[in-house]
Amino acid sequence: MELTDISVVRSLMEKHGLRFQKKFGQNFLINRSVPERIAEASGAGGEDGVLEIGPGIGTLTKELCKRAKKVVSLEIDEGLIPVLGETLGEYDNFKVICEDVMKADLELIVKTEFAGCERVRVAANLPYYITTPVIMRLLESGIKFESLTFLIQKEVADRLCAAPGTPEYGSVTVAVDYYCDREKKFNVPPGCFMPAPKVTSTVITLFPRKIRKYAPKDEKMFFKTVAGAFGMRRKTLVNALSAAFAVPKETVARSLEECGTDPGVRGERLSTSDFVALSDALGNNIEK
Ligand code: SAM
Repeated sequence: MELTDISVVRSLMEKHGLRFQKKFGQNFLINRSVPERIAEASGAGGEDGVLEIGPGIGTLTKELCKRAKKVVSLEIDEGLIPVLGETLGEYDNFKVICEDVMKADLELIVKTEFAGCERVRVAANLPYYITTPVIMRLLESGIKFESLTFLIQKEVADRLCAAPGTPEYGSVTVAVDYYCDREKKFNVPPGCFMPAPKVTSTVITLFPRKIRKYAPKDEKMFFKTVAGAFGMRRKTLVNALSAAFAVPKETVARSLEECGTDPGVRGERLSTSDFVALSDALGNNIEK
């Protein structure tokens, strides 16, 4: 069965009484080479386990099953479960779990499902409505993923890879840089999906670092500093952080001075290392 064939997609949906659910971000791939290229970009192969988010009718899943030792997919839409039984029935290395990725116990799933695998990778054509929360949930889970390959809106991919001082740079850039190296792979035009979204998409791979690049004294303080700095974008750092931490402006100004950072600067100019130094200094000065 050619799952990227529009008439196959239509007849599967009809047969199972399904409609594309906008609320679940259902834009299925209908281009033959894109799922193959995503599976290749994910690096899945050999003894790898792959956790997929949102298999849909199984188009990308099938390519992952051909390459990896085991594929476990989390799908929120229970209507799609019998479809997957039909489209992926021939793959005994596939399992679908009908759960919301934002609520599932990912650690338990990885531990139990991929016990016999050497590495665990993530691959997904992510639903657009929860792209960033899903990525952050996976990164913050503490699970040691080898890589995470996502098809996401180009605009979001640009944000994840942005350099300090550019308009795309924001708290999510810093948060992802805190954990991972990033590699943009290729763009996917709207016509490769059914229904077609309005915007271009990009395949991106995140590689969580095995050796930490950044070591703030207090991780919570670091993330609070980043959120505070970007929370009020039009304010200078001194004003934004004094409001975020409810401390006098002088405390923030002193911390900035200790790091050699201009107190009049805006948050979007600071690199991840700058934020680490600043959160350490703020931590010291707020405790005093
Ligand atoms: N992988 C398929 C493809 O490439 O054709 C479908 C991708 S579609 C963009 C997103 C998929 O994620 C849909 O199957 C949707 O039902 C599922 N989904 C949406 N929200 C989800 C959630 N919170 N947890 C798990 N799956 C979700």
